[in-house]
Amino acid sequence: MPINIAIIGSGPAGFYTADALTRACKGCHIDIIERLPTPFGLVRAGVAPDHQTTKRIVKKFEKTALLDEVNYYGNVTIGNCVSLAELRELYDAVVLAVGAPNDRKLTIPGADKIGVHGSAAFVGWYNGHPDYQDLRPDLNVGTAAVIGVGNVALDIARVLVCSAERMAGSDLPDYASCAIQGSPIYDVHLFGRRGPIEAKFTNVELREMGKLNCCVPLAKAEQIPGDDDPVLAALSDRDRRLSERNLKTLRTFSVNRPDEKSKRVHFEFCATPVEVLGGDRVEALRFERTQVTDGRAEGTGDFFEVDCGLVVAAIGYRSDPIVGAPYEGDRGIIPNDDGRVAEGLYTVGWIKRGPTGVISSNRYDGEVVADYIHKDFGNLPKSDKAGRKGLESLFNARGIRYVTYADWKQLETMEIENATGVAPRRKFVTIEEMLEALDKSAPSREFA
Ligand code: NAP
Repeated sequence: MPINIAIIGSGPAGFYTADALTRACKGCHIDIIERLPTPFGLVRAGVAPDHQTTKRIVKKFEKTALLDEVNYYGNVTIGNCVSLAELRELYDAVVLAVGAPNDRKLTIPGADKIGVHGSAAFVGWYNGHPDYQDLRPDLNVGTAAVIGVGNVALDIARVLVCSAERMAGSDLPDYASCAIQGSPIYDVHLFGRRGPIEAKFTNVELREMGKLNCCVPLAKAEQIPGDDDPVLAALSDRDRRLSERNLKTLRTFSVNRPDEKSKRVHFEFCATPVEVLGGDRVEALRFERTQVTDGRAEGTGDFFEVDCGLVVAAIGYRSDPIVGAPYEGDRGIIPNDDGRVAEGLYTVGWIKRGPTGVISSNRYDGEVVADYIHKDFGNLPKSDKAGRKGLESLFNARGIRYVTYADWKQLETMEIENATGVAPRRKFVTIEEMLEALDKSAPSREFA
């Protein structure tokens, strides 16, 4: 009997782990369990809809999914359909790869006003994530504010100001396209609580902001440090090079004219939000000017306000605790020793190390954990765990309707067929419509 491994979560961390396991533990059975019917986590619902080339990584993941030793069980919520304790009974090893799906909360006064959203919700909404269909943000405002200067903040600002032509080749759902293209938002402000040297965005993404045909990026020359700034000199060679590239790009933004194009993205640094102002709805944000000392933003006692009808806090993500696994509340991660959590329990990706890094950063996590699993179980003469047979019996006994990879491929075919123009797909955006579409296309399929 091969060893049996369950991976919970089908985002990049889950798929890189599955891929590494197929090489480290030859012949093992790998079952990927996912809460949504659709696989690929943030590649489908986090990567910006106009970044279709980034999404091509799913072709690699698909090769893994189609291997004989790999099964996919979508539409299965851990703790609801099956508990972690049950999975640990059924499998030799369980890998937690559930990511960090929730917003890090903005905790300033007024943050609960209508019109203030977190980036997980806002990005999920424009990416057609089933959890955020009800968000319906009011974009009938003139000015939007995005808090944070990471890549997610840039994505949000860009999606809000992108032309219909550029978005035509994206998989933006119709409702989001109508809301965004019909919106009178002409100004988007991005606020960094620290300076440009400390900004988290990467240069390719920053430069992209300067290439949009209907929007001009603007920065303030006096906020951009010179290349002789002592803070730069103290950085590692690599970090200094990265920062210098960003500073150079921001300098080009600082000579742009606001009237060059119809829309504007304004970069504002050393501004920490202190209050959301307005009645029930957001009407403005109040900031305290900061200075950066030893990498920390310190308030200067100077305050200013910026009018805005929409606020998106792109200040990072958080993981949920999982019943049956330890949880470190402060950092929002599962405490682990480079991926090992307990005997037979492992973790990878954002729930292992926090919400930073690009898609390929997960490859290392997967390789390390696959190596541990090989050391811990790969030399067992045989496994006495029930594995996928036991899992499917449990699902059948409970009437759990799981979605296979073949089902997903059917859904994907329909999404591609339903696309119009040059759009790559028209996404199904609710779980109900996905399951209904599968029913209609394969009415004889039995789920229980
Ligand atoms: P991030 O890179 O950590 O940026 C978060 C931003 O929020 C930072 O500017 C941070 O400022 C700010 N912030 C945090 N708490 C704040 C507060 N209380 N008030 C004001 N500002 C606050 O996170 P992210 O943008 O969510 O991205 C997550 C990861 O995904 C990153 O590694 C990112 O590179 C990656 N990603 C990559 C791409 C791409 O490659 N195209 C696209 C999207 C995301 P401080 O620095 O001062 O804390």
